[in-house]
Amino acid sequence: MITIQTGPQPTDLSDVRATNRAVVLRYVRTHSPCSRADIAARTGLNKATVSSLVTELIERRLLRETGLTENRVGRPATMLVLDGEPYAALGMQVDADELVVVAVDLGGNRLLTWRRAFGTLGASPAETVAAVAKLARRAVGRLTAGGRTVLGLTLGVPGLVDITGTVPLAATLNWRDAPVAAELRAALRDPGFPVALENVANLAVLAEQRHGDRAGTANLVHLTGGVGIGAGILVDGRLLRGERGFAGQVGHLPLDPAGPACRCGRRGCLEALVGLPAVVRRLLPDVKSDGAVTDFAPEIERIQALARAEDRSALAGLADLGRHLGHGAAVLADLLNPEAVLVGGHFAALAPWLLPAARTELTRRTLAPDAGGCRLEASTLGAEAAALGGATASLAAVEAGRLPTPTAALG
Ligand SMILES: [Zn+2]
Repeated sequence: MITIQTGPQPTDLSDVRATNRAVVLRYVRTHSPCSRADIAARTGLNKATVSSLVTELIERRLLRETGLTENRVGRPATMLVLDGEPYAALGMQVDADELVVVAVDLGGNRLLTWRRAFGTLGASPAETVAAVAKLARRAVGRLTAGGRTVLGLTLGVPGLVDITGTVPLAATLNWRDAPVAAELRAALRDPGFPVALENVANLAVLAEQRHGDRAGTANLVHLTGGVGIGAGILVDGRLLRGERGFAGQVGHLPLDPAGPACRCGRRGCLEALVGLPAVVRRLLPDVKSDGAVTDFAPEIERIQALARAEDRSALAGLADLGRHLGHGAAVLADLLNPEAVLVGGHFAALAPWLLPAARTELTRRTLAPDAGGCRLEASTLGAEAAALGGATASLAAVEAGRLPTPTAALG
């Protein structure tokens, strides 16, 4: 069975019940509608325990009975599903030019998706946090007005996020040593639900694991494409964080010592080869850098148009970039042996022309036959993958069996 565990797990004996609650919730989430007898038969919990846990979960409105019954030999069984109504989980992400908020219910169904233009590059971390808090308060207001309790908020930022919720470095935003989680909690005035901070690539892979084309996969990498490049890594169903939370910083993998200069001061890093500015420079040499450009959508559209028109130079350039991308994926495949590397951002937008060459390179460079089974595919989650993953992460405490208190609201 696959689990995503993003928080501390129950350890003492009194938490056995929480663990069992988590087992029941997970079973219903993945097999609903199902009966109490199904849960007992398939989880190994005894029927009395299941019955008691289900009663408690119905009281807390985490489960509900559908009113439908399944006829069997003996007596009919009442079917159970997750109760989608009373709760909501929030995820947000900070991009260079906008803020995104996504809310989901307990079953992961989307309740709202809002995007707000915001010039993060021209703002301080504190100003950005204030804007995030303002958008969060509006979302919480909408959800609580609809009678929902907010279970938590997880914010994604493109940079290093340590386990205390501080951002020691977010190079693409020009942030250093920003205590973002503490500032966000303060800006939300102790909202009564947990507020967490996470790297966007980590959140994107959580979204893939729950909502993407490879949902349910235990060994998965999401490679973010943008000005910076990062990897969110699931190993055996768990997010790989490392000692201080900095795992997955693959943007500066040195791939070509003779390659182009990188903003980190070295040469030939993955980011210097296939980061968004490098792609634009390579495919559209007429585009002049006019400072800190944040919105590359027009350039991506021009590149797509050239490729669709089978412009030979553009196709050759994209194949060349694809080979570098495949080289980077091969390093990940050798190191982690994932079932898939899913590429987002501009890699997804240009996937039809990047991925054929990238896949050939991936297979050519990995030691294991057939790249160890690793598939290289475009993410289908779009630009709000990290916010969706944040909402998914905000469900973690309840999914680990903690009972929510159905009162939290922002004043
Ligand atoms: Zn570098």
